[in-house]
Amino acid sequence: MPEAHSLHRHARDQREALAGQVLSVTSPQRKFDATPFDGHRLQDVQAYGKHLVYSFDGAPDVHVHLGMKGIFLRTDDLSLPPRGGTRMRLAGETTAFSLIAPSRCEAMDEQAFTALLATLGPDPLRVGEAGRDEAAHRLASARAAVGAALLDQSVWAGIGNAWRAELLFLAGIDPTRRVDEDEAGLLWDLAVEHLRVGVDAGQVVSDPTAPDERWVYKRETCRRCGTPVRNWTFAGRVAWVCPVDQR
Ligand SMILES: [Zn+2]
Repeated sequence: MPEAHSLHRHARDQREALAGQVLSVTSPQRKFDATPFDGHRLQDVQAYGKHLVYSFDGAPDVHVHLGMKGIFLRTDDLSLPPRGGTRMRLAGETTAFSLIAPSRCEAMDEQAFTALLATLGPDPLRVGEAGRDEAAHRLASARAAVGAALLDQSVWAGIGNAWRAELLFLAGIDPTRRVDEDEAGLLWDLAVEHLRVGVDAGQVVSDPTAPDERWVYKRETCRRCGTPVRNWTFAGRVAWVCPVDQR
């Protein structure tokens, strides 16, 4: 599932290519009513955790969640016919984005936007260092073990399975226990630092000197010490843990 860095990357790419332009908005798949948005100027695209919110002049917002399978395809050739399975196509002056197989793509009024934000904890890529105290408090006071709390979007927004594995490795923390505020603050610092790199790189980067490598995520052995990585389903997703480096 796409995690916060990729949603912020989508928001940035689409904002740069389309914001300020009058868009042709269509739904070749016909599962989304594009009429209220078609021919309206796109003001902005923002990511909130794993959610994307598009704001238009004179129209409601559009709320997108990619879920497990959703993707965007970009084209700079507007003469190409859209793919039939496209849920929403946003076409500007020179560039179009086609949204395929999202879990959510819907009009959203102000009340629903407020309700969405109320379900989300702080997003490391939105509030950064300024959110540290609140983020540390929320994580340390979560009743669940840290490996479950990190995936709970109401605790922190935007962390998925790959970041859970790599951030807990970097902090030296086993996912099955709880954390205190100092450890939670350290995890937040790691999240802010690494997710920013991830936005630019377009992938999970847990070691900036080796951006294509992971420490434990989907590995057989720990990249630091060589110990076999333990993996098992924890809080609904497969946890990846070095039993030597994480306590
Ligand atoms: Zn290790």
